[in-house]
Amino acid sequence: MTFKPEIIYIENGAEDYALTQNLLQQFPDTPVVRNAEAEAVIKTIKQNTSDWFGASKRHLFLSRFKGTFLKKCPGLSPGMVCCNYLVVNLMKNCMYDCSYCFLQDFLRNNPLFVAYVNIDDLILELEETFRNAPAGQEFRVGTGELTDSLALDDIIPYTKTLIPFFNRQKNATLELKTKSDRVENLLTQDDPSNVVVSWSLNPREIVESEEKGTPSLEQKLASARQCQEKGYRIGIHLDPIILFPGWEKIYKDLIEEIFLNLDPKTIEWVSLGSFRYRSGLKQAIKERNPKTQLFTSEHMAGRDGKYRYLRPLRNHAYETIRNWVKAKDPHLSAYLCMETKEIWEGATGALPKTDPTLEDFFSPTPRL
Ligand code: SF4
Repeated sequence: MTFKPEIIYIENGAEDYALTQNLLQQFPDTPVVRNAEAEAVIKTIKQNTSDWFGASKRHLFLSRFKGTFLKKCPGLSPGMVCCNYLVVNLMKNCMYDCSYCFLQDFLRNNPLFVAYVNIDDLILELEETFRNAPAGQEFRVGTGELTDSLALDDIIPYTKTLIPFFNRQKNATLELKTKSDRVENLLTQDDPSNVVVSWSLNPREIVESEEKGTPSLEQKLASARQCQEKGYRIGIHLDPIILFPGWEKIYKDLIEEIFLNLDPKTIEWVSLGSFRYRSGLKQAIKERNPKTQLFTSEHMAGRDGKYRYLRPLRNHAYETIRNWVKAKDPHLSAYLCMETKEIWEGATGALPKTDPTLEDFFSPTPRL
């Protein structure tokens, strides 16, 4: 699926940037609204359709980001064990429309599909942060918290700036997290060092029913294989794992397919996370995805306020899938994302600091 915005909105001050000009050249026939104000655009979209979140995904709002780009991953929430990850948000919202996407709730008040065009400001900020860090401090930075890192990389080629920049860093790694097959710009880079490209994967049955607009499992794995052959390190997120009667078979098939396509030696990690949601998200999911299978099992709220499958079910799923992964290569790092201490111990037999294959992920959180 190729993205073509129905309308391009340009906020005051965002017009003269190269990314903006480049987009205008790519879509000469697309209506453009200049000096756009976010609140007015949101109001118009909400007035015109009941599925305003879906409609927001078809418009593009170009803006300048005015705060500090680099933030700690929100996995640092009460009761959760976290992998010390930093995020930068170059975009908000996403062209895909997964039924479980937390953005449906998180961006409820501001659902605009925003792309920040002042990437030079991000580069200056990162350069200063990395340069001033104490000796030995390592940064792991992801761009896929509030969007898919690569889905729009063909039309907004952030990676053409980010990858050469991270190639030059001694203490920082970039993680591009995606469900897409948009790897063209990655394959034409000279140097794959300091970059991990990670795919969020689910069995094809779940791709078809719950991950609307995303490429097929085959396309995702083919792109991952191309990146692996180019020399990029690869990450795999089995997240969200969705449990229903018979889940074992389709997840076992998924693990087989992943390792038929990818060499475990250059897989940096496999992360596991089960479907989770805040109460506000459930309503949005049901309204927008009446046929979803997400609520066929029971869920309970945890200390962080998020609902998850019951603990024995999660424990069993993590332990089972982790064993399948480890059977492919015992040296693979397999970690749990946004999970409690009890679940870590139940599924892995250890907390992350005591598992040598996970050491890199749990070094102290960088000070910002
Ligand atoms: S790819 Fe990620 S950000 Fe995009 S809709 Fe799916 S879950 Fe949301």
